[in-house]
Amino acid sequence: MLYQRSSQLFAEAEKVIPGGVNSPVRAFKSVGGTPIFVKEAKGAYLYDEDGNKLIDYINSWGPMILGHAYEPVVNAVIEKAKLGTSFGMPTEIETKIAELAVSMVPNIDKIRFVNSGTEACMSAIRLARGYTDREKIIKFKGCYHGHSDSFLISAGSGAVTFGSPNSPGVTSGTAKDTLLATYNDLANVESILDANKGEVAAIIVEPVAGNMGCVPPAKGFLEGLRALCDKHGTLLIFDEVMTGFRLAKGGAQELFGVNADIVTFGKVIGGGLPVGAFAARNEIMNYLAPIGPVYQAGTLSGNPLAMAAGLTMLQEINKDSELFARLEEKTAYLERGMRKVLNDNKVAYTINRVGSMISVFFDEREVVDFDTAGYGNNDTFKKFFHGLLAEGVYIAPSSYETWFITDALTYEDLDYTINAVNKIFAS
Ligand code: PLP
Repeated sequence: MLYQRSSQLFAEAEKVIPGGVNSPVRAFKSVGGTPIFVKEAKGAYLYDEDGNKLIDYINSWGPMILGHAYEPVVNAVIEKAKLGTSFGMPTEIETKIAELAVSMVPNIDKIRFVNSGTEACMSAIRLARGYTDREKIIKFKGCYHGHSDSFLISAGSGAVTFGSPNSPGVTSGTAKDTLLATYNDLANVESILDANKGEVAAIIVEPVAGNMGCVPPAKGFLEGLRALCDKHGTLLIFDEVMTGFRLAKGGAQELFGVNADIVTFGKVIGGGLPVGAFAARNEIMNYLAPIGPVYQAGTLSGNPLAMAAGLTMLQEINKDSELFARLEEKTAYLERGMRKVLNDNKVAYTINRVGSMISVFFDEREVVDFDTAGYGNNDTFKKFFHGLLAEGVYIAPSSYETWFITDALTYEDLDYTINAVNKIFAS
């Protein structure tokens, strides 16, 4: 495959955009090489500016669960756009998507829409702090909740890939209110809560971590967090930006049968347009302005195009009773196929998977937290990434990222991918 035009476009972009990209992981820093400039996408495939066709396992980092340019979503956006693209006034469609989301997700009464997952998580902790009248939060090393200051204390994903886990520009005053815990280690969380009695407003967690590769919660971990929060009067925030409407209609809360106090969303809920949201029961959500004291706002929040895309996406997911079973089957098929060829080729690896979130680490040791996720950040991953790319298969350009399986993938695509994995290691 040739990437001549992508290289030219990247050189031009670098002159006017820092690093040539608008989000660091896109720059391929951790795997090397030049980022691919995409021209269009349909279903499970990307078409780049050089005319290459790629099977896509990132899917815009999660939103495109039904495939790219999914017709009902595209049509809904086009029709809405004809009526005006932004009003800064209430619209009926905002209530419609809110009603649907509240009906699909357990344990929430009200939801507020924002423009990104970052905004959702940032607003959720402000709400938790306002509601509890406490200042500290606990986050887990390797979990990513967007790029707002309180979370860039030891962030995973983009920040780790980019090699600056503690970003300059975050003040020490902000950092002191974020306490870092180890994922899947309840004793560690308990000791932090004990050392900060009455001071911790919230624990925020990715119920399935997806920003240190895919790291499932150990049995009892989420239940344990729930119990610790109840004991300490601390709110439990599930960051379901990745898992929401992906692991089940009701997200991780439904899948694991554990209720959070506040839930945040992004990605799938916007159908590929910029949307985030946070939700909770009435007693917490009523703390928000304009009815409560905690301020939160947005010029483009509830934007009609974004709401049209999100509503259509949720409606499609809601009416398809087989969707999550199909995603599970497809991703399990891919997992089995890759395991077989990696075993046949005597490659040391670990595969973690929950539903349609999966990642491959090239080390035989178990990956359960941020430190162990680091085992997979090695040269074999780079070889794997570039080998797949040469075969027309696009996975995340970092071992700290999860693959997101789309329903648009066919079993032929999956077989093709498994064969491509075999080729890389057989050669
Ligand atoms: N939370 C999680 C779990 C995420 O994976 C991300 C982004 O990848 C975010 C929050 C931030 O969302 P956004 O990139 O839309 O700001």
